[in-house]
Amino acid sequence: MDLAPSRPTYCVVDLAAIQYNLRRMQRITNTDVMAVVKADGYGHGAVEVARAAAAAGAAWLGVAFAGEGLALRRAGLGTDILVLGYTPPHLAGEAIEHDLALTVYDLEVARAYATAARVLNKRARLHVKVDTGMGRLGVDPAGAGPLVKAMEQLDGARVEGVFTHFATADSADQSYALEQLRRFQDVVDHLELPGREPILIHAANSPAALALPAARFDLVRMGIALYGLNPSAEVPVPPDFLPALEWKSTVSQVKTLPPGSPVSYGGEYVTRSAETLAVIPVGYGDGFRRHPKNAAQVLIGGQRVPVVGRVCMDQVVANVSEAPGVKLGDEVVLIGRQGEAAITADDAAAWWGTINYDVVTGIMARVPRLYRR
Ligand SMILES: *Cc1c(COP(=O)(O)O)cnc(C)c1O
Repeated sequence: MDLAPSRPTYCVVDLAAIQYNLRRMQRITNTDVMAVVKADGYGHGAVEVARAAAAAGAAWLGVAFAGEGLALRRAGLGTDILVLGYTPPHLAGEAIEHDLALTVYDLEVARAYATAARVLNKRARLHVKVDTGMGRLGVDPAGAGPLVKAMEQLDGARVEGVFTHFATADSADQSYALEQLRRFQDVVDHLELPGREPILIHAANSPAALALPAARFDLVRMGIALYGLNPSAEVPVPPDFLPALEWKSTVSQVKTLPPGSPVSYGGEYVTRSAETLAVIPVGYGDGFRRHPKNAAQVLIGGQRVPVVGRVCMDQVVANVSEAPGVKLGDEVVLIGRQGEAAITADDAAAWWGTINYDVVTGIMARVPRLYRR
């Protein structure tokens, strides 16, 4: 494949992997799938991922806020889109005009949406979010039924879905997720929907879709697994899922420093012997984290080598003394495979004290994304 990145540090996103993961989820769950592409498609590129997912049969796209959905519409995506977060009333008109479905949990806000829709001679498409124990966004279970009922009376609004979100579906211990599911099922069982078409019920994120079949309902909301990444160590994706993102760079200089030479800001790292060092043009300004305990590694010459000294904004230094023959222009892998060696987003998450979601979402916009189809 001919790649001509606009800088020596870049990501390669395999859209066929995205499509494979989506189809695997469809087959495993036998349920419609919402491809969750918030936060620029978990750092992979929302428009490209959404197009690939839609072409592979994603029934819905999920975004965090209305602007993300509007960007997909501007890019020509016609798939159903649900805004999972809060939409302030002053932004509702544009969202409704572009046929975005909105999340609601408050009757006053729902009324404002209905008013905005009537101005456009449309009906707002609304999904009621129930807080069954996540303790975040949503109406409490006792208020859900009355809210749905009141919304059914609103001119300019249409209750299209009812949903909830799990707090612990990525844990091997399913007891709390099962309790949330029980509360949600109770809400669903008591919905009063006189003479209307059936409503879309959804609850599962990636780990629940994989590990909690009773939570699949009409639609599963697939985020992290779409990208081929594990929801957690306790609830991993099946082994054939394909990580879609590689993060690469290029050696910009190789030098050998004598023993006792400080490396990078603060001079905290000092060479112990004559060490051969490779300078790599990636830093915390790209999302390669500046963690106080620098435990990061990179792949050069098919080998794992340690990053030494402080991570700078635009550069890091790796000790390549154990990887002979490294030269200017060589490929560096920050996440992905090189020969037999691999670094996963989970590895990077462990070095940086976080989760794989945060690692890939944190790769900054200035890192170009190249797409493999
Ligand atoms: C982000 C999000 C998801 C996707 O979660 P994953 O764990 O990445 O699959 C699903 N539902 C809601 C409400 C979300 O905010």
